[in-house]
Amino acid sequence: MNDRQALIVGGGASGLMAAGYLAQAGIRTTLIERNPRTGAKLMITGKGRCNVTNDCDQREFLNHVLHNPRFLYSALAGFSTADTQAFFEGLGVALKTERGRRVFPVSDQAGQIVDALRHYSQNATLLRGFCTAVEQENGAVTGIRLADGRGLSAPCVIVATGGMSYPKTGSDGNGYRLAEKLGHPVIPPRPALVPLCCSQSLCGRLAGLSLRNVTLSLWDKKTGNCLFEELGEMLFTHNGVSGPLVLSAASRIQAMEGGRYRLVLDLKPGLSEQQLHARLLRDFGQQLNKQFSNALHGLLPQALTEELVALSGIPRDVKVNSITKEQRQGLVSLLKGFSLDVDGFAPMEEAIVTAGGVDVRRVNPKTMESTLVKGLYFTGEILDVDGETGGYNLQIAFSTAVAAAKAIVARYQKEEGACL
Ligand SMILES: Cc1cc2nc3c(=O)[nH]c(=O)nc-3n(C[C@H](O)[C@H](O)[C@H](O)COP(=O)(O)OP(=O)(O)OC[C@H]3O[C@@H](n4cnc5c(N)ncnc54)[C@H](O)[C@@H]3O)c2cc1C
Repeated sequence: MNDRQALIVGGGASGLMAAGYLAQAGIRTTLIERNPRTGAKLMITGKGRCNVTNDCDQREFLNHVLHNPRFLYSALAGFSTADTQAFFEGLGVALKTERGRRVFPVSDQAGQIVDALRHYSQNATLLRGFCTAVEQENGAVTGIRLADGRGLSAPCVIVATGGMSYPKTGSDGNGYRLAEKLGHPVIPPRPALVPLCCSQSLCGRLAGLSLRNVTLSLWDKKTGNCLFEELGEMLFTHNGVSGPLVLSAASRIQAMEGGRYRLVLDLKPGLSEQQLHARLLRDFGQQLNKQFSNALHGLLPQALTEELVALSGIPRDVKVNSITKEQRQGLVSLLKGFSLDVDGFAPMEEAIVTAGGVDVRRVNPKTMESTLVKGLYFTGEILDVDGETGGYNLQIAFSTAVAAAKAIVARYQKEEGACL
């Protein structure tokens, strides 16, 4: 007899949540995880602090979902950001809300979130193994097959194998093949929330330098459109740029083509061009006999000043008193429009999330059940939905997990009702 059983492939954020829900509802649940321990990716979320959700309402939430936001409507209504907070607080994890309504554990320890989920799912059987196939007969799931040849039977299987970013955590994209074997179309995965590579060598020289309170805009040179503009933080890397602003900008690039996109940095967003010009005039007026290269102190970090001096075209040893109005104007333009050409995305290994995945047009948005194979469910990052940084992706993992788990419980209740 296979009744009231469920198998969950993948013990990440989504799989653990679904396992806990199902086991607590009395469903015989087995969670299959390839790693020795569950929650490997969760442990590194939010730089080890785990930005577990975002304290915003549903409308606002969906504005931060980049692909297929409407697919999530029902799942979020069923398990909202407020529910996530109540859930973890109910498990003894005190939470705090930071800038941008990002919610973290007060302890700043992702491990506390992982422990809470492990505790919640403790009544599910945890099986270490690598699932190589989900099996079906006549359009209905019958179970799964593991790499060592073992087979497990159940009429309900949740595939929660994640995306393919940071593959060392176990989510390496093999789940897409499981889905494809069952006839599910997969939208080609691509990195999202990923650092960008830039052609300018100055990035390497500035590697490690982070800038706060700058405005970053992303331009598509082909269409002339501005795809993103926001104030925040970014940093230079050995071959490009990263940090919150850059990750968000990168997720707006649908089709990467080297040379097509340009990043423009406003290094002084608090000042208009006129105000900046007046500021330079004042600063230069106070140090008339200084060399240009020494006269920009206080305006920018030293390393960046050096690069700007080189880019300005003004000889570095020229005395400030001989800098012309046009040269000052050029400097203002550089400070307000520091351009970097985008060469490409950093590799998938460095992406925070994967865009693309199981095509949601073949998944029921209320239940996460496949419309092709009965008893097959997809939850979390394997789906073609992805959000910006700010706790949206974990919330997607949790909401879709609860939607699937609720649907499985409802299915068994209905079947039992029919048997009475
Ligand atoms: C560095 C980093 C920081 C992040 N920070 C945040 C953050 O602060 N807030 C936020 O909202 N999001 C964050 N994210 C994104 C978030 O972690 C993911 O979106 C989320 O973990 C997806 O959950 P999931 O359960 O779908 O997949 P995962 O958490 O990736 O879990 C999938 C699991 O399935 C297992 N698995 C895969 N294939 C098989 C198989 N065939 N058999 C058995 N097991 C298998 C894997 O080992 C893995 O444990 C971050 C991501 C990264 C990489």
